[in-house]
Amino acid sequence: MEFDYLWLLLLPVFFGLGWLAARIDIRQLLRDSRAVPKAYFEGLNFLLNEQPDRALGALVSVAHHHPDAVELQFALGSLFRKRGELDRAIKLHQSILQRPDLSPDVRSQALQALGEDYQRAGLLDRAEDSYRQLLDNGQATEARMALLNIYQQEREWQKAIDMASQLPDAAHAHQHEVAQFYCELAQRAMSASQWEVAGPYLQSALEVHRKCVRATLLQGDLALMQGQPDAARQAWLRIEQQNPDYLHMVAEKVLRIYQDEGRQDEGLTLLRGLYQRYPSLDLLEPLNLALQQAGKLQDSYELLRDEVRRQPSLLGLDRLLQVQLLVAPPERRADLEQVRNLVHQHADKHNMHSCRHCGFRARQYFWHCPGCAEWESYSALRGQASLP
Ligand SMILES: [Zn+2]
Repeated sequence: MEFDYLWLLLLPVFFGLGWLAARIDIRQLLRDSRAVPKAYFEGLNFLLNEQPDRALGALVSVAHHHPDAVELQFALGSLFRKRGELDRAIKLHQSILQRPDLSPDVRSQALQALGEDYQRAGLLDRAEDSYRQLLDNGQATEARMALLNIYQQEREWQKAIDMASQLPDAAHAHQHEVAQFYCELAQRAMSASQWEVAGPYLQSALEVHRKCVRATLLQGDLALMQGQPDAARQAWLRIEQQNPDYLHMVAEKVLRIYQDEGRQDEGLTLLRGLYQRYPSLDLLEPLNLALQQAGKLQDSYELLRDEVRRQPSLLGLDRLLQVQLLVAPPERRADLEQVRNLVHQHADKHNMHSCRHCGFRARQYFWHCPGCAEWESYSALRGQASLP
């Protein structure tokens, strides 16, 4: 009785094996594995061993003998592109597009790949054509991102704004960039003296991103160009609410308006107040310059001395020695000058803004990094080498 009972327990296992056998045709499996050419595995092996030249040779031979293996063609195309053989990549992807039995998925994949080839080759018009053909497909996020990139390279800001609005999570993901695109449009209009066009662009920039310092800065410039210094000053001072690190960029302009109105002391008091709230060498520089021009050398010296104590830096020391030279008695000046020249040579290397993204350094402040094309990636304050 016990023996029969055990066999009953094994019955489901036999059923399972039968079910598997019905679905897997071992002979078919063997045939399929023989159908994959040996050269394909060789190619893969070379790729895995990081021997791209030999991998390419093997894969080209497989692709030649199996033109229908479309995934293999795409792999080959992307390998060509990575190696900079853009002519070959373009020809290959074009040939896929010319196939008579093209499925919609393969067509999309080929257009995307062709767009990337053209973009890499710097043929932006053709890349745009390829990507645009993908836009009727609702899932074309990759193509939209690529187009956004191309429009920025071509400085087609309105097209870039439209494209960014079609991306998923458009309201938040690209607000910094879109505000910058509006600023670019505003700046272009301002260069052409089209004040009435520039104003609404700056409004749009702030609606998209209310902390866009550049838009507020340009609002001030625009007001001044239109002969409204008071409005300009108010705009520039609004930067305090957005990001006080940028105040040094407008400090000199604000002071000049006070000077033009004959209220220089009021301007200096305002600037001193800002510096006390947001101390930085960058903000101290325009204040110092104004104090020195007004003959208040002792004030300038004391402010710099306190700044160097607060934040010891080579750049600060350089500025301190500079003003010390102005107040020092004549017999000490030669020695001081020697020290100052030495410090200045080293400090000057740190008198730069640097990109947080790629590390590109420049004396000028860029809203759009020339090194990596990121927006607002520059530190507002210049790098300051600390003293030990
Ligand atoms: Zn950069």
